[in-house]
Amino acid sequence: MNFLSLIEKKRGGGLLTPEQIRELVREFTAGQIPEYQMAAMLMAIYFRGLDTTETAALTLAMRDSGDVLKFPRDRRPLVDKHSTGGIGDKVSLPLAPLLACLGFRVPMISGRGLGITGGTLDKLDAIPGFKTLLPTAQIVAQVQQIGCVICGQTDKMVPADKKIYALRDGSGTVPSIPLITASILSKKLAENLKALILDVKFGRAAFMQTKTDARKLAKVMAALGNECGINTRAILTDMNAPLGRAAGNWLEVKESLACLEGKGSPDLRELVLECAAHLLVQTGKSKSAAAARKSAAACLQSSAPRKKWDAMIAAQGADLQAFNRKLKLDSTAKTVLELKAEKTGFVATCDARIIGEAVRDLGGGRLTKDALINPDVGVDQIAKPNERVATGSILARVHAADRPQAEAALARLKSAFQISAKPRKLAPLIFEIIPPR
Ligand code: URA
Repeated sequence: MNFLSLIEKKRGGGLLTPEQIRELVREFTAGQIPEYQMAAMLMAIYFRGLDTTETAALTLAMRDSGDVLKFPRDRRPLVDKHSTGGIGDKVSLPLAPLLACLGFRVPMISGRGLGITGGTLDKLDAIPGFKTLLPTAQIVAQVQQIGCVICGQTDKMVPADKKIYALRDGSGTVPSIPLITASILSKKLAENLKALILDVKFGRAAFMQTKTDARKLAKVMAALGNECGINTRAILTDMNAPLGRAAGNWLEVKESLACLEGKGSPDLRELVLECAAHLLVQTGKSKSAAAARKSAAACLQSSAPRKKWDAMIAAQGADLQAFNRKLKLDSTAKTVLELKAEKTGFVATCDARIIGEAVRDLGGGRLTKDALINPDVGVDQIAKPNERVATGSILARVHAADRPQAEAALARLKSAFQISAKPRKLAPLIFEIIPPR
């Protein structure tokens, strides 16, 4: 293949054929195209874009660069959810066992966090003994037996994405809608799903900061998912304030368990139920959104999802006794400090970006891909927008590895909160559903 002529074609705004795209993915994955040429192609795509046919061809070629999960025929539909990431976004943890209890199979292949947004696998690493890297045969067997798995991508799944993503990261071409779409959907297509719900976040701490950009990404991803044979819906959700009241890996596991036990933060519960309800409707298991929400809420209120969680983590090597002992601890970090309100009023802002940066710098996130994470640090008891606070009441607690780090985080967190005399009209958490119903 004359790759240079393809770069020149895309640079000039031309269209690549599906055959050319298949070849370029195949040859790049096999190491036959030098990285400088692929980086040039990615930059040409960044500026010129890809149309729907090109994006579909890229997505399918990336899926086919490795193993696709194959499941035995079964009446339980295969479903998953993907989030573009945010602060305190722990929805996947309670959602996977809830969906399994609702009669789905959930092969939830998840990722790690980079920058301020957390990663599901990093959260799960905080569970004693839990393994996130499983061989393909175990992923399939666990989904068949228990109904859900949350694990990392194997080396054999979508290797093209690993190579292309690394190059995008180093060439300033990550924020390209067709490249993001192909990256996310190729991995979901490799799970062989029947239905997918995409949680596309917008706001201060989101990948897409404006609703307009988030809507654009959601529309492209939903249209392509549907075109590739997965019933796909997207919800646009607000990421100006953190989701729930905790951010930091172990603290988020703890909050997820509260949700599974029918307690915890109402916004987390709302989003978990919303995702489950969409999937019930998308797969025809519920006739209406209202009926779906009712079924999902009744299931979450029962003890079944909590038991399913135990079965899932035990199957992935977790020490249940150690896990349950750890859950009872108020903190697993060395130092805990409280941020107190300096006046009485209502929480006007609770800035997810500042909270995310504080958690990352406490050691709860990564600045570079291979940095080590401290699972025990983070922020909890976060006061949410419009919550009434009195002078001296807790706005947040910092969990840190030592006192100087706790104090530095506390100083920073002060600027995340503003208190006003009156409550404001709150924007909805779930802003839009795409395609509209
Ligand atoms: N997540 C992915 O998996 N890929 C992207 O390109 C962006 C976010």
